Amino acid sequence: MHYSVDLPVRGTYDVVVVGAGPAGIGAAVTAARLGKTTLLVEKYGYPGGVGTYGCCTIFFRFGERGRKLVGGLAEEVIRRMDARGAASFLINDGCQMPEFRAIGDRPLLGKVITKTEDLRVVYHDILSESEVEKLFYSHLCGVVREGRCVRGIVVDCLEGPQIVEGKVFIDATGDAHLVHRAGGRTEHVGPEETMHKSIFFMAGGVTPHDPSVNAKRYKELFEAGAVPDGVWDHLGYSYQLDPGVVQLAFAHASGDACSSEDMTRMDHELRKRNFEIVDFMKREMAGYEHCFPVNAAQQVCVRSGRHICGVTKLTEESLGRDELPPEPITPIIRSYGSHSTDQKKGFCPAKRVSRGGFSAIPYGALIPDEFDNVLASGRCISVDECVMDTIRMMTTCMVTGQAAAIAASIVIEGDLSTMTQVPYAGLRRGLLDMDCILEPKAK
Ligand SMILES: Cc1cc2nc3c(=O)[nH]c(=O)nc-3n(C[C@H](O)[C@H](O)[C@H](O)COP(=O)(O)OP(=O)(O)OC[C@H]3O[C@@H](n4cnc5c(N)ncnc54)[C@H](O)[C@@H]3O)c2cc1C
Repeated sequence: MHYSVDLPVRGTYDVVVVGAGPAGIGAAVTAARLGKTTLLVEKYGYPGGVGTYGCCTIFFRFGERGRKLVGGLAEEVIRRMDARGAASFLINDGCQMPEFRAIGDRPLLGKVITKTEDLRVVYHDILSESEVEKLFYSHLCGVVREGRCVRGIVVDCLEGPQIVEGKVFIDATGDAHLVHRAGGRTEHVGPEETMHKSIFFMAGGVTPHDPSVNAKRYKELFEAGAVPDGVWDHLGYSYQLDPGVVQLAFAHASGDACSSEDMTRMDHELRKRNFEIVDFMKREMAGYEHCFPVNAAQQVCVRSGRHICGVTKLTEESLGRDELPPEPITPIIRSYGSHSTDQKKGFCPAKRVSRGGFSAIPYGALIPDEFDNVLASGRCISVDECVMDTIRMMTTCMVTGQAAAIAASIVIEGDLSTMTQVPYAGLRRGLLDMDCILEPKAK
């Protein structure tokens, strides 16, 4: 059956970015700052992606082993958050406790905890100031493709479906929805090979206590089988900047990130489990006697779902090499796998290996192999599943967005016919101009 409908054209832009997570924000802000007319499409009403809808308040990987890995827009965001009292370093890896004082002009090397609602506003502000046109409350639901080019996308807005045309399209949807809907090649990893799914939530009313006593008690209860089903073998939590609020993050579920049916089942499962966790914490854990849920992720949160098939793929083997891959856009640490089975029950990749030294994300991992005017950024770039751990942090995702926008801008200005023609020297210069880092710098 073939349907044909006439839809209104909303507008034509130099760069159209779909998905306002860290990667899409990086892409849209950068494209607009480079003078390109830029539209950012997002299904929620606010920016931030998993970071904001998922209650994920911690920014990792600004630095590693005393070396700075990420600057650019991610650092600008944290500096702005700090200025409004909504960011702090974490002082203790063991129990994730904020320092509760301003970061000031100290270098960003450690983990930073933020307030989610402030983050939504700061992202909104930066997008508006950069003159990005935001089309939120709007869902990408189709793609108009002509051979190796995407000519437009169909967006289901509150007004009804509309077409958006563009010169370059950036897929920052997290799960490669744009490339998939355009019929491009993608890799879809099964739940048994990927990381588990979560609905983090915040508990309020927590009073001062000794976290090490709770950690020990939890371990004993876990070993005795006296914890709720589907939880980690250790307490996963972090104290938040708001007094008495703790993020509880140790429930897990398994399912397919690209199946509406599976996502719905996991939503029900995880939300019910979170109430069981509140009851358990009240009953068993010091300081939690009067706790109550105050906020939960707005959907099942996915660490990895579908990836593009890129011109270059970041593989376990390439990450293992001592030299950097060709055309590096941002450094990464050489670690594989995550959320290993020795930390949690079930649903985890079998291995977690960490090697010394650094590798990098190659530009080619952002280029879907069947398109001339499309790029991907963020967690859906072309990678082996087992290296997701090292590329999926919000900071790194944001830089991949910045790199995609610089490449898009070079293609538009140079009237180049494909994304593979971007001269690396120009991309590298653009990243350095935006204070992004290509080789890890010492402290
Ligand atoms: C439970 C969990 C905890 C995490 N904790 C941390 C942490 O503490 N620190 C950290 O750095 N990272 C953390 N991560 C990883 C990090 O949050 C993500 O990898 C990162 O946000 C990915 O950024 P992204 O922009 O590529 O994609 P996303 O953040 O997934 O953003 C994609 C955006 O695209 C939008 N979108 C998708 N489809 C459509 C469509 N059809 N139409 C319109 N819009 C669409 C989505 O609504 C979303 O806003 C966590 C991830 C999970 C799942």
